[in-house]
Amino acid sequence: MSYLVQQSIERLKYSNIRITPQRHAILEYLIEKDNHPTADEIYKNLVDRFPSMSVATVYNNLRLFIHLGLVKEMMYGDNSSRFDFASTEHYHAICSSCGRIEDIYYPGLDDVEVVASTLTGYKVNSHRLEIYGLCPECQEEAQ
Ligand code: ZN
Ligand code: MN
Repeated sequence: MSYLVQQSIERLKYSNIRITPQRHAILEYLIEKDNHPTADEIYKNLVDRFPSMSVATVYNNLRLFIHLGLVKEMMYGDNSSRFDFASTEHYHAICSSCGRIEDIYYPGLDDVEVVASTLTGYKVNSHRLEIYGLCPECQEEAQ
């Protein structure tokens, strides 16, 4: 078990949350795969190991992890939310052809938040930045 998984399990214990094998597996999947899966993808990858598991189980656990600040939901307006283990703040590059999502670690753009707040009068809580383009694999295929 990786350090991040171990640390997250400790976080659950600290909040008096029961660590079921399914809960453990979902969390581990998010951390180890680090591929921003949908709930459906998580379900499909784990259902062989847990035949009694449903997509609703996956959703309920994801909601719990989000509530605890362990996981972030990346919403796209429809049912295609993706889920990201919330380690350190980062941005994303998204391939507009295959949908692959790559992490980008870059200093937080706090000055943009200040400007936005000044221009709009909003009390800014957070921001999201997504870069769109073609991933290296899709560039090669396009040639
Ligand atoms: Zn691609
Ligand atoms: Mn990410």
